[in-house]
Amino acid sequence: MKFSRQLTSLVTGGAGFLGSHLTDRLLKEGHRVIAIDNFITGDPANIEHLAGNENYRFIRQDVTQYLFVPDDINFVFHFASPASPIDYLELPIPTLKVGALGTHNALGLAKDKRATFLLASTSETYGDPLEHPQNENYWGNVNPIGPRGVYDEAKRFAEAMTMAYHRYHHVDTKIVRIFNTYGPRMRLADGRVVPAFIGQALNGVPLTIFGDGSQTRSFCYVSDLIDGIYKLAMSKFHEPVNIGNPREMTIKQFAEEIIRIMGVNLSLEHKSLPVDDPKVRQPDISRAKKVLGWEPKIEFEEGIRLTIDYFRSRLG
Ligand code: UDP
Repeated sequence: MKFSRQLTSLVTGGAGFLGSHLTDRLLKEGHRVIAIDNFITGDPANIEHLAGNENYRFIRQDVTQYLFVPDDINFVFHFASPASPIDYLELPIPTLKVGALGTHNALGLAKDKRATFLLASTSETYGDPLEHPQNENYWGNVNPIGPRGVYDEAKRFAEAMTMAYHRYHHVDTKIVRIFNTYGPRMRLADGRVVPAFIGQALNGVPLTIFGDGSQTRSFCYVSDLIDGIYKLAMSKFHEPVNIGNPREMTIKQFAEEIIRIMGVNLSLEHKSLPVDDPKVRQPDISRAKKVLGWEPKIEFEEGIRLTIDYFRSRLG
């Protein structure tokens, strides 16, 4: 007879955009999920569909405080952090604390439970990159004292802490470097370019381009990202892995695509470029392809249409 037992995963930032999608995937894979969030940028609406699910438990807590969880835990996914530039500009100290103290607590919990630990890191570890596209061996070009430094350096510290727990305490750790991701459950007012442009187009106002719009980003649909993260969690790989969609475009092209797909006739309004805004960003996903057999599947227009439908329903 085959022995089987239910796995338990703990997700910090479980009410956030990515944490809630990850939760849904883990539940679908048969895990029990314990989610933690303090709602500073997470949203109860992202988890309301889970009310009454016997495999789901929610703890309202700040992960920078000591975490007491009596259950056996097999996986700790550390996803708690403000993650949009305006959020971490408004919350600089909580952003530093969750990346540093929160990561320490989440690693301590994983060590205690002999659980696998997965850190949600970021393409921001590459800063304003001088290599293009970015592969995992690039060390980055980050301004530690600039306004984005609170996020970039917190995540770089979190990566260093994760590798220290791996090397010194032999915790089974993984690090995903997440590139720009979009989809349902992003906050319409979180300031990031995807909800900003879709929200502006739905409201019939000009699209706000920061700078001349020549800076590039590469956008990944959320289900593709979560699939890569799930595969990484189940792998035996400990070095950082980029997960993102290499389809790169300028922000001006992105605005024009939104206008075309939504069939609206709107102008572009130029605003000043935020300090240290990266000029280019595109993931080299060779490692994810090789190690995880992963690559994104959702076409840009399909993902954008699904996201527009979501924002339309929220505004409706
Ligand atoms: N951006 C823009 N208009 C907006 C919001 C953002 O032109 O209303 C630009 C921003 O300056 C950056 C890019 O879009 O170059 C992506 O910004 P986002 O905040 O989504 O995330 P980032 O990739 O900078 O972390």
